[in-house]
Amino acid sequence: MRTDTGQVINLADYRPTDFVLERVDLTFELDPTETKVEARLIFHRREGADTTAPLVLDGDELSLYSLLLDQNELPAEKYTVTPETLTIPDLPASVPFEITVTTIINPEANTQLMGLYRTGGIYCTQCEAEGFRRITYFPDRPDVLAVYTVNIIADKEANPLLLSNGNFLGGAGYGPGKHFAAWFDPHPKPSYLFALVAGDLGVVEDTFVTMSGREVALKIYVEHGKEPRAAYAMDALKRSMKWDEDVFGREYDLDIFMVVAVSDFNMGAMENKGLNVFNDKYVLADPETATDTDYANIEAIIAHEYFHNWTGNRITCRDWFQLCLKEGLTVFRDHEFSADMRSRAVRRIAEVRHLKAEQFPEDAGPLAHPVRPTKYREINNFYTTTVYEKGSEVTRMIATLLGRETFKKGMDLYFERHDGQAATVEDFVTCFEDASGRDLSQFSLWYHQAGTPLVTASGSYDPANATFTLSLEQMVPATPGQAAKEPMHIPLRLGLILDNGSEVEPTAVTGAELTGDVLHLTDRAHTVTFEGVSSRPVLSLNRDFSAPINLHFNQSPADLAHVARHETDLFARWQALTDLALPNLTQAARDAREGKPVTCDPVLIDALLWAAADHNLEPAFRAQALTLPSEADIARELGNNNDPDAIHAGRQAILTQIAQAGVETFAALYEAMLPSGTFSPDAASAGKRALRNTALTYLSYAENTPDRAAAAFAAADNMTDLSYALTILAHRFPEAPETTKALADFEQRFRDNALVIDKWLAIQATIPGAAALDRVKELQRSPLFNAKNPNRVRALVGTFAFSNPTGFSRADGAGYAFLANEILDIDKRNPQLAARILTAMRSWRLLEPVRADLAREALLQIERASGLSTDVRDIVERMLK
Ligand code: ZN
Repeated sequence: MRTDTGQVINLADYRPTDFVLERVDLTFELDPTETKVEARLIFHRREGADTTAPLVLDGDELSLYSLLLDQNELPAEKYTVTPETLTIPDLPASVPFEITVTTIINPEANTQLMGLYRTGGIYCTQCEAEGFRRITYFPDRPDVLAVYTVNIIADKEANPLLLSNGNFLGGAGYGPGKHFAAWFDPHPKPSYLFALVAGDLGVVEDTFVTMSGREVALKIYVEHGKEPRAAYAMDALKRSMKWDEDVFGREYDLDIFMVVAVSDFNMGAMENKGLNVFNDKYVLADPETATDTDYANIEAIIAHEYFHNWTGNRITCRDWFQLCLKEGLTVFRDHEFSADMRSRAVRRIAEVRHLKAEQFPEDAGPLAHPVRPTKYREINNFYTTTVYEKGSEVTRMIATLLGRETFKKGMDLYFERHDGQAATVEDFVTCFEDASGRDLSQFSLWYHQAGTPLVTASGSYDPANATFTLSLEQMVPATPGQAAKEPMHIPLRLGLILDNGSEVEPTAVTGAELTGDVLHLTDRAHTVTFEGVSSRPVLSLNRDFSAPINLHFNQSPADLAHVARHETDLFARWQALTDLALPNLTQAARDAREGKPVTCDPVLIDALLWAAADHNLEPAFRAQALTLPSEADIARELGNNNDPDAIHAGRQAILTQIAQAGVETFAALYEAMLPSGTFSPDAASAGKRALRNTALTYLSYAENTPDRAAAAFAAADNMTDLSYALTILAHRFPEAPETTKALADFEQRFRDNALVIDKWLAIQATIPGAAALDRVKELQRSPLFNAKNPNRVRALVGTFAFSNPTGFSRADGAGYAFLANEILDIDKRNPQLAARILTAMRSWRLLEPVRADLAREALLQIERASGLSTDVRDIVERMLK
């Protein structure tokens, strides 16, 4: 493992390489513990570069076996080498030359899962961001693009399958018991998109005919016996390929597209050219083992990685500071895809819930950074929800500002102008300026200023003049390294809704630019006047979450209920219900903390039950409407001095009151929402299941017995219903014999399916209350747990820390102390995983003082440890600053 050197990389220091890499020829002789990698690299000195500059290649834990220059061995005094760098001076000034680097690496010992490693008897690679340098010495940076040929030699029986990027060239026997395969990728690519997979896997095959009539072979590789569970992923892949042609005009560009599912993977998946590698969690699904959420995630991630072929691969990033150029844009593309495949409004609600739950806390805490950062110590720590999800929102805002047509023109220009290049965020924005003629320099602050803008709004109606006046003020909070902020260009979609539910068409608007229903906020303060407003309107602001902001708008419960009932934008209806619920929940937390009785505003109960029973609304939407803000949402709303126990108790009390008031509605929904016929994972059926299970949750509060959930558990014929029933049992009635029995049944039934066992672990890790910690520790000793597998660790330890506020933040600090020990242990094997889980503590300063002190103690314990990885050291130091 690389321990920290304290080195910081700055965007301002970017400069191109002195040498241009023309082509790469790799030969792998695979062996579990001693793999030999020969890399033949043809370079020439860049025109205008210093003619005396040495060639400096990156490495990471490498040892050099041999080094040739133009096929002649280089004597040791002609270069210097460390595990991290190979430096070769005195290279030709103008003619191309060939460097042949041979390294020996140990895939079996690679527990970081970066570079070439072994998982379940399979060789596999992960090279983004800087994993290729763990395979061979190389100019391992995304602006070095080259054409690759890859030869793989391996034991034939153990590795019938030998895969790499591009098109298959050929293969044959290779000495006793061995064989080889050769692959050629004609598209120049950076090293982070390199991939190799070898082993023995089953395959699902299909084909896709592209818009110009080319047939592409599609292959999804999974463990033998799991082929039927890859059918949904294959279907999602074909739909993604078609959608990218229809919506973005993007055609696939190789003869073959492969997906490989592996069970040890640090992230979700990886877009290696023509050979995507996936965490098997995002490939494998069938009704018995996958929930509706799993299906939706598989669809989205298959699409995401496929879409990277154009946004990421054909056009890549100049440097890692530009990560959002490919990630933010590709998330936006996969969001649009899911919106087209499913219900747009329901998808938008899910996206915004996720953004607020994950990105808003990041942006409000010690790890806040701009979508386009300017410095980093460890790039792996910047694969964040800010870069991904806020990056997507920024792209969405460009589309909102310019309109769909002009946005499309800008995208077309981007594809045309930068194909084959390593581009920057500025290149991207310029395409939209050129396509629209609009100056986007102020808008670009969204890439550069961290922090969630706060917009404060107030409205007043003047009946005498028939005008509605809206005052708006924006403020961007200070974030680490950025004390003062400039006002941003904020696109606020809005509607003025009259008593009868119709919308006002103002005769004139002054005080800010309005295009369609988009109000352009550009100054610190605006006073906007709408003329020709015949009666008092109710304002719906930030429709569709057009801007990722916090909005302070003191709207009466009656006005919010009006929006919740009459908005044409369904997202805004959901938002209004949330805004109606939040003050109830925060007050409930305060009351619970002081031991006072909790009461729920009947306006909220009415609005929720009205939405629940409105048969014109799709079930999936109603399920979202009925799902109250989470405990984390309430904590965020309260701001600081948080007591997780009080927040939990208050929310439980509100849920109980809603449940009691709506018991008949919920009982009726529970009966009515049973999808008919055989199981189908489609969005409409999933919506029915979601509403039915939401009703079941409320019934568990109204009836306060485990009976109905236990019956649902026994009757379930799919994993969505089964895991939902188990969650209700475990979370609401942890001590009930029904719960003990259901947990044991579930374990027994799925003990051979690790991905399902992850659900079993996660459900138990999130049982509210102080006892959860002991259960987590006990589960760590279960033979079904495996501390070396990232999915298991995330399911148990990660879920506990991220999603169990009362358990993790128990008052004695034992949860934090536990996590500190876990982090130090995980860090020895897998720094990336350790650093990621540690971010669960990013909001520690918002806790009440006793807990905050205990949390700081745990962080200090990590900080004081010796031999920390750069990954963990970077996170812990930023969190303590
Ligand atoms: Zn991505």
